[in-house]
Amino acid sequence: MISEEEARKKIVETVRPLPARKLSISRSLDLFAAEDHFARVPLPAFDNSAMDGYAIMTSSCRKGQRLRVIGEQPAGRDKQLCISRGEAVRIFTGAPMPAGADAVVMQEDITRDGDEIVINTDVEASEFIRQRGCDLAEGQRILPKGERICAAAAAVLASQGFAEVTVGGEVKAAVLSTGDELLKPGERIGPGQIYDSNSVLLDGLLKRCGAVVNSVEHCRDERESLIKAIERGIKSHILIISGGVSVGEHDSVKAALRDLGAQVDIWRVAIKPGKPFLFGRVRRRVPSPQSSPWQGKADATAPGEGGIANLAHSFIFGLPGNPVSAFVTFLQFVRPAILKMMGAMKLDLPKVPAKLAVDLTNDGDRAHYIRGKFEHGKFSPVGRQESHALFGLSQSNALLRISVGQSFKAGEIVDIQVWD
Ligand code: AMP
Ligand code: MG
Repeated sequence: MISEEEARKKIVETVRPLPARKLSISRSLDLFAAEDHFARVPLPAFDNSAMDGYAIMTSSCRKGQRLRVIGEQPAGRDKQLCISRGEAVRIFTGAPMPAGADAVVMQEDITRDGDEIVINTDVEASEFIRQRGCDLAEGQRILPKGERICAAAAAVLASQGFAEVTVGGEVKAAVLSTGDELLKPGERIGPGQIYDSNSVLLDGLLKRCGAVVNSVEHCRDERESLIKAIERGIKSHILIISGGVSVGEHDSVKAALRDLGAQVDIWRVAIKPGKPFLFGRVRRRVPSPQSSPWQGKADATAPGEGGIANLAHSFIFGLPGNPVSAFVTFLQFVRPAILKMMGAMKLDLPKVPAKLAVDLTNDGDRAHYIRGKFEHGKFSPVGRQESHALFGLSQSNALLRISVGQSFKAGEIVDIQVWD
């Protein structure tokens, strides 16, 4: 059994970023930038009005002043207007400032009188002008490599005229849930049977990470069927197998993997829940146009670094069948691998300080992840802290990791991991 840190390190070192691709900005949401992006134009791109009002020259204008309106400048085409002393230009939000004007007075602060206005307020220079470049300078970095493209970041790219952005590769995933006891939701259930909830859980977690789920299959605990199902699954970059990785007689996943010539890098990790976790790799079976899908032809290898080529291998994550174990091991081991393959820089779940509601001690021999509710700055364990307790998990939104031998007191500030 290896430590959780060792397992994560090994996994993260083994997988490599997939080749980058260019996508339209509208399809880049939540993907990761594959290169640094820099501003092509400043923001704002030109001095413009922050209000509907009148562009004026403050040096020739005080409260009570009468000014002649010499033209109108709407947003859009710059009419290249120019004002002199005693003049104003009718202007609208976002419109370019006329030459000679150094402030805008709001339309609420003037009285219009035919071709003239009377200023009813004192106006200071620069008032209601949005200065060129005050938000963003030309050449400034707007999106670092490896950063997730959120809606606002995508909007900044659009503001710079980028129609496309280079993002990290697309991770294709397959899910295989194993177990003779499992039925599909909607099927008629018999004694001793349960509904397969892990397929739904893992499908959701994969999509949340930004992976594309190619297939979701169920397979009985039977070696031949498992081999066939795994062969189908390894057409994807990663295959997530749920269940069948423990030590019972019906846990046939390891044997099936062995028969397929897979290399098992990790089996059993000092993590609670999730001890039987497995990580391995097998040459990827990708269908080629000329040959049958089962000739074991690998496609091109990933460029760079000389490590394990993502495109030639499929990575296999064997998660314990207990739903909470599957959930915790997904977040701790699968999520960072997917993010790295997608080109992300930050692989860990975000950590947030929280005030602990209860005393907690880990006197076991594995790092323990407590499921809890993080609310108003406070973390309270929620639900039964057992690996089968799916409903308890569904009530939680954060994890607290307690190392072996570690104790926390109620009221202490602890770092928790949050998702969603
Ligand atoms: P296993 O890891 O196969 O030994 O399964 C451990 C426990 O998780 C057993 O109680 C299984 O019935 C349960 N389990 C396995 N797979 C699933 C699944 N897909 N959905 C819900 N529970 C499962
Ligand atoms: Mg099982």
